Amino acid sequence: MKIDILTLFPEMFTGVLGSSIIGKAVQKELVSFRVVNFRDYAGNKHGQVDDTPYGGGGGMVLKPEPIFHAVESLTEANGEAAAAKPRVVLLCPQGKRYDQRLAEELAKEEHLIFICGHYEGYDERIRTHLVTDEVSIGDYVLTGGELPAMVIIDSLVRLQKGALGNEQSAVTDSYSTGLLEYPHYTRPASFRDLSVPDILLSGHHENIERWRLKESLRRTLERRPDLLERQELTKEMKKLIEEIQQEL
Ligand code: SAM
Repeated sequence: MKIDILTLFPEMFTGVLGSSIIGKAVQKELVSFRVVNFRDYAGNKHGQVDDTPYGGGGGMVLKPEPIFHAVESLTEANGEAAAAKPRVVLLCPQGKRYDQRLAEELAKEEHLIFICGHYEGYDERIRTHLVTDEVSIGDYVLTGGELPAMVIIDSLVRLQKGALGNEQSAVTDSYSTGLLEYPHYTRPASFRDLSVPDILLSGHHENIERWRLKESLRRTLERRPDLLERQELTKEMKKLIEEIQQEL
């Protein structure tokens, strides 16, 4: 997977793209990054990338030329045919709310371009004539698109085959299954009189799986019942939900 990031603050990415699972995925050549300062595409001698809004008002607006030129040069440098054009993702609080479903969809792409905004916003022509997706990481406003891009990139890299030490992790994670994940315990079996549930120490795999599914359902019912409304429930799940409700 190739990921290009257009930003005015490339230095923000140094630590994140070189560390932990992402850093290892780069070493294993599962993913490669190009972090591009779109000021380099300003096309004017002062490197001006923003300007005041037409119609007045506060804040600076990112100009179209630097961002169009940067995206075009990245796709041309890649020699991509029109049919294979990458998805161009604009980070924007007005975009589609990011979730695991969108992560799974984007993780299948071979080439993605992220545009990180700053200041008041983007010239509207960037939205209407350049990008394929507008994505928000939540209903709040940050100073720039760099942190949202990092959040999304992290979630995409961990879905690449071979990126995680344990492939199973990504499959059982919260949201991947449509449910929140069950509780985890590790040694010691008893800590300050707080004991690990006996079933996890029993070695009985079938019972452990059933317990995990039940706890996963319990947690989802308690914290995110909306997820269950979207989930197709198996017979076993329905039975476990009944048990949980009887225990209340
Ligand atoms: N004036 C804009 C508005 O009201 O929609 C907000 C601009 S914000 C201060 C500057 C930049 O930060 C945005 O262009 C975007 O790239 C990024 N940003 C801020 N919040 C974001 C969010 N929740 N998700 C994705 N990107 C965000």
